[in-house]
Amino acid sequence: MTTRRILVTSALPYANGSIHLGHLVEYIQTDIWVRFQKMRGHEIYYVCADDTHGTPIMLRAEKEGITPEALIARVHDEHYEDFTGFHIHFDNYYSTHSDETRHYSEDIYHKLKVAGLIRVRAIEQLYDPQKNMFLPDRFVKGECPKCSAKDQYGDSCEVCGAAYAPTELKNPYSAVSGATPVKKSSEHYFFSLSDQRCVDFLRRWTRAGHLQPEAANKMHEWLGDAGENKLSDWDISRDAPYFGFEIPDAPGKYFYVWLDAPIGYMGSFKHLCARENLDFDTYWRKDTETELYHFIGKDILYFHALFWPAMLEHSGYRTPTRIFAHGFLTVNGEKMSKSRGTFITAASYLKQGLNPEWLRYYYAAKLNGTMEDIDLNLDDFIVRVNSDLVGKFINIASRCAGFITKRFNGKLVDGDSYQTMQQLINERFANWRPGALEKAYEDRDYSQAVRQIMKFSDEANEIIHELAPWEIAKNTDRNAELQRVCSLGIQLFYLLARYLKPILPETIRQVEGFLNCQPLTWPRLVENEPVSQLLLPPGHVINAYQHLMTRIDSKLIDALVEANKQNLSADQAGAAKTNANSQQKTIAPIAETISIDDFSKIDLRVARIVNAEHVEGANKLLKLTLDIGSGQRTVFAGIKSAYSPEQLKGRLTVMVANLAPRKMKFGLSEGMVLAAGSGGSELFILSPDSGAQPGMRIK
Ligand SMILES: [Zn+2]
Repeated sequence: MTTRRILVTSALPYANGSIHLGHLVEYIQTDIWVRFQKMRGHEIYYVCADDTHGTPIMLRAEKEGITPEALIARVHDEHYEDFTGFHIHFDNYYSTHSDETRHYSEDIYHKLKVAGLIRVRAIEQLYDPQKNMFLPDRFVKGECPKCSAKDQYGDSCEVCGAAYAPTELKNPYSAVSGATPVKKSSEHYFFSLSDQRCVDFLRRWTRAGHLQPEAANKMHEWLGDAGENKLSDWDISRDAPYFGFEIPDAPGKYFYVWLDAPIGYMGSFKHLCARENLDFDTYWRKDTETELYHFIGKDILYFHALFWPAMLEHSGYRTPTRIFAHGFLTVNGEKMSKSRGTFITAASYLKQGLNPEWLRYYYAAKLNGTMEDIDLNLDDFIVRVNSDLVGKFINIASRCAGFITKRFNGKLVDGDSYQTMQQLINERFANWRPGALEKAYEDRDYSQAVRQIMKFSDEANEIIHELAPWEIAKNTDRNAELQRVCSLGIQLFYLLARYLKPILPETIRQVEGFLNCQPLTWPRLVENEPVSQLLLPPGHVINAYQHLMTRIDSKLIDALVEANKQNLSADQAGAAKTNANSQQKTIAPIAETISIDDFSKIDLRVARIVNAEHVEGANKLLKLTLDIGSGQRTVFAGIKSAYSPEQLKGRLTVMVANLAPRKMKFGLSEGMVLAAGSGGSELFILSPDSGAQPGMRIK
């Protein structure tokens, strides 16, 4: 196998928010892959940067009374510290606010312009007449045009989920000054993604193995069928005042995110090239054989799989080898939530004294290389780390190392005893195929890798259990046997350490010290070579065993959740825009004030559910028969996702008794039962206190 030259990136976190556990899925996923390739001896570089430009940064700096440069420098340090704390090793962690990024932004812009792919046209946007600036969608607020919920952002409603243009908001106001925005026209620069050349190129490129199958299908949806053109041009400019790069031939116009953030990948690598004396063009020229991989969240797939390759292709650069998209993180099966304390920052995790490698292991055990979401179940997290890492892996060393140190001065067996040990290992692991493990790592199917490693671990523990060194040790006549059995345990532990190193770099660094061995690499074995090829040599001397990893105490997790409940203010609401920023739970704003007369129009009654049944052909509805004292009503309620008919029969609830009957596909619905919650399994119907009788009015 030849040495590959590989450049790897993770998405650039925005310099306006803290790194949280949702972000870490991607950086841990990437870091494991990079470490694996490094162990295999490939020439691989991992670069990233803070995404530093834009109106939010400009306004936040202004609010804090500092320059944007000072703000992004501070956030850069915070981000870097968080990543380092989780053992994420970048070859370069840079900033998009750099000369290198500016250079490539301008270069790509010029080349696209020469190619006739930059167009200018006037667009109308909301403008803050007090602040003298155009307002980004998120900085315009007002009432939702669909449901009239107040204080909604200019792009979508958090109450009803509607998406719209900021100009559609009712009673809009500027979130910056509070002023009523006016419509104003201005010239914007566009990249012509809808140009036939881009469309033709993307039709080929998105089907040429650069994307995961599910991503390629998504692209097909967005591109449409041959002959169709569903793409629109991309706005790449913003007007002053703006924090970013001014467009060279357009004073007062600045490159918008698309034309500087991803170019930060190039800028960061260029910066590394200068430091390490590498050749930038070897990695970025069109016909290069080097490999380029972007790890991203599925939320920025459209951009990385369409806009970015089209831009590179038509400015004379290479396009990505593969784009690896992953899903979002849920915690305990739900979106990360500040009220529940599951919107956990990287810094708070470290500050509570939790081992970052617990999380690295848990994520690895869940990641399978697809775009599926992964769940951090906090109870399962404790069980899994304690049983796999401490119970199965570390346990091997702690059971065998003491005897080797105390009875044999740290020396492992040699001579015939070594061969006997080798034979036993080869017999017991005759079916072990390191090639399958390598493939799992290469394919980013870490859950598969972890399963194989833990299977190996189970077998190792089984052997030690059968041979029971603690029994042998009771009889000093059996010293040679004791040394052989404990050496066997240490050798198996040594093999496992190699397999786990990409996931647990810090623990394995300590293991290397304890085993007194060279930093572990991943030699390229022939598939059928016996596993004992890779053992420590005969008579090898190890150091005394030091404690390697503690168990997770559930109190630590409780404290972590508690700390995140208290510490997160709305201001820290994870404005970082990659991956998981939309994962917070929103509490709907309180509706408009009404008078008591308005309220008394609603006739709420205690009702007994005398019958509940499924409705044929309805996914969400249950048919309820309600007794309200004076008679019975039929109500179709959308609560099937949370309740079975059996759970409902006989119980009391509350219904709106004077709601106009509604003709539904399945019949007439004569009222409504009340429930709280966002839907799905999160639905809670109301119950009166005991003693209430059907028909009582609620006032
Ligand atoms: Zn709405």
